[in-house]
Amino acid sequence: MTKLTELNLHQALSGLAAGDFTSTELTQSYLNSIEAQNASLNAYLVVTGDKALEMARASDARRAVGNAGALEGIPLGIKDLFCTKGVRTTAASKILGEFAPEYESSVTTNLWRDGAVMLGKLNLDEFAMGSSNETSAFGNVTNPWKRKGSNVALTPGGSSGGSAAAVAAHMCLGATATDTGGSIRQPAAFTGTVGIKPTYGRCSRYGIVAFASSLDQAGPIARNVKDSAIMLQSMMGHDAKDSTSLNVAVPDLVAAMAKGVKGMKIGIPKEYRVDGMPEEIENLWQQGIAWLKDAGAEIVDISLPHTKYALPAYYIVAPAEASSNLARYDGMRFGARVEGVDLTDTYEKSRATGFGEEVKRRILIGTYVLSAGYYDAYYLRAQKVRARILEDFTNAWTKCDAILTPTAPSAAFGLGEKSDDPIKMYLNDVFTVTANLAGLPAISIPAALDVDGLPLGLQIIGKALDEETVYSVASVMEQAANFSARP
Ligand code: GLN
Repeated sequence: MTKLTELNLHQALSGLAAGDFTSTELTQSYLNSIEAQNASLNAYLVVTGDKALEMARASDARRAVGNAGALEGIPLGIKDLFCTKGVRTTAASKILGEFAPEYESSVTTNLWRDGAVMLGKLNLDEFAMGSSNETSAFGNVTNPWKRKGSNVALTPGGSSGGSAAAVAAHMCLGATATDTGGSIRQPAAFTGTVGIKPTYGRCSRYGIVAFASSLDQAGPIARNVKDSAIMLQSMMGHDAKDSTSLNVAVPDLVAAMAKGVKGMKIGIPKEYRVDGMPEEIENLWQQGIAWLKDAGAEIVDISLPHTKYALPAYYIVAPAEASSNLARYDGMRFGARVEGVDLTDTYEKSRATGFGEEVKRRILIGTYVLSAGYYDAYYLRAQKVRARILEDFTNAWTKCDAILTPTAPSAAFGLGEKSDDPIKMYLNDVFTVTANLAGLPAISIPAALDVDGLPLGLQIIGKALDEETVYSVASVMEQAANFSARP
């Protein structure tokens, strides 16, 4: 029999349905895989082995009485930004200490409702702030991929680096992730996996530790487009506990994959050509265009003129919201406290000790751009830019049905290569932040290997609430790319 961890999510679902193996057996093989690899990759912060086996046995019992959900018996990893009842949730920060939530996030509640099994909690950048997983208070995740003939340790991307590495290294069948400025799509591109950020409001934010509330969205990282569709369908849905959750029907994303792209118009934005981008990424983009043309799509040149302002606007809006969201960590209500001589001193000592350098930088920037004298010059102006960016996309939709771009301006880079230069690090998000600022769905799929043998991703951005078109295009691209390389 093939090793169970070789099956992907939809194959595992068929195997479970056919009675070839049980969820308990499947879960045990994933726990073994974690046991064998986690010491070197550091993807899991917590492995909930007993809980996983208990959930798997309950799943097997449900299946035995013909009561199987859409993810029945499927072992998943959960980014440690999602609150999980009674299981330590850290956001990869020291400030949360041993915090074990009293409640479960709505997204994970949906996954358990559909029968999924939790393997553990996955590493990330602290409070999801970063593009390399190096800001985690629990040490970086290491990418399972290496450059050809080199032993240099690479970043899995961030902030959902634990999710991406765990999926790529077959330490779970799929993982939850979150994306505020690219944190699902960039790690997916760096690890040869599929990552989608759906339309803002598709997935409930209830029980997800907040970073920048107007940008944060949950989504899955998976091994292929179909697995991603199955997971996302379970994660989405209206939730009265999140006032920004959209009360709209959940589409059939697997069905959408079969629609093809014949007659579809795909936009190519000229502004997504940035200085210093490797020629290989430009070539890959051209290759993607050719694949879609061959499948019957019409390619149209479009312009998104305000793209160059997206990154600066993002790095004002996101820290501004973060500084406000993170004000709640004061040593009183959650996690770790450092006693001071009086209340203010206790607040200050708790925050100074609990937060890492990048989080402090974001709080300082955010507080600065929101302060009375600077609000109009920075925050208000960034909000205006955000409106222009949305307008750019609205204009583009009069010409095309979806947009194709590279996911990131580089392949996975070396650990430590950018960590002492925040601006360099921020530049890695240049192609991903626009979809967050405009609230649009966007997927990254692995398209090819670069000269060093590292995966590169292409991004498809869709209209608001049109995940179906995103999946139609992604499926065509996946077939054309035929990406089967492994770390
Ligand atoms: N890299 C971006 C940042 O550091 C995006 C992070 C994210 O999407 N959570 O803000």
